[in-house]
Amino acid sequence: MSVRFTRKVALVTGGGSGIGRATALAFAREGATVVVAGRNAEALDRTVALIEDEGGRADAVPTDVSSSEDVARLVRTTVARHGGLHIAFNNAGVLEAGPLADLDEAAWDRQLAVNLTGVFLCMKHEIAHMRANGGGVIVNTASNLGAHLRLPFLGAYAASKAAVSTLTRAAAKEYIGDGVRINAISPGPIETSMSLRPGETEADRAERLKDALPIGRAGTLAEAAAAVLWLASPEAGFTVGHDLVLDGGASA
Ligand code: NAD
Repeated sequence: MSVRFTRKVALVTGGGSGIGRATALAFAREGATVVVAGRNAEALDRTVALIEDEGGRADAVPTDVSSSEDVARLVRTTVARHGGLHIAFNNAGVLEAGPLADLDEAAWDRQLAVNLTGVFLCMKHEIAHMRANGGGVIVNTASNLGAHLRLPFLGAYAASKAAVSTLTRAAAKEYIGDGVRINAISPGPIETSMSLRPGETEADRAERLKDALPIGRAGTLAEAAAAVLWLASPEAGFTVGHDLVLDGGASA
């Protein structure tokens, strides 16, 4: 088995569920000490327990990524407890659907605050540490809906994610000279609760995606995690400012 992240400290936001939890487990299996951050402390503790059950090292820091104070504390705590911060997966996100003319302004604000401002704040504090300490690697979670809006009523979410892709490219160019390598992933539907429509079961989703996507199924958590680990690994050393689309051909 390859162990690509021995002696690395990896931070994962949204690490209490879905893609974040799966990626945290994958980093830990490959030797990293993983710090999971998110709003739900119980969910974070569960991720830590899953990693420790497998013999890995993990820690939880409850954090609201839309708060600069929280994110600054998260980076400080990570470095103080674990001696560094080498990899960051800025993945926390929220989705609230609705026709734009009817969308509550608070729903607009929440999506921009978590999906876009959250990524900005994480990068701001992570980069400050990394560039002063020999560099690092950052992967942000955007969405294929940012560039290819196949579905109605997701305008606010899609706009926030398109901005994550743009911000990733801008930051990548600004900081690669300081040894901070930054990329993004743009998933299509992955098998988490976020890709379920209201009232839909997993079986309903499987049925819907048979025709809706060229590949005919949702992406797996393992497929999402593997893409993040590759981008974070030295094998992707020449990959800078890239937005890796994982969508079974939806936007091909
Ligand atoms: P998820 O709902 O399981 O994960 C989102 C995580 O973000 C949760 O753990 C939640 O607690 C956390 N979070 C929400 N607001 C937060 C805040 N203010 N501060 C800290 N943490 C917060 O769903 P997921 O599918 O694993 O989503 C992970 C990321 O992938 C999100 O950014 C999402 O937009 C993106 N994405 C998902 C899909 C999909 O089909 N599942 C597709 C494209 C993009």
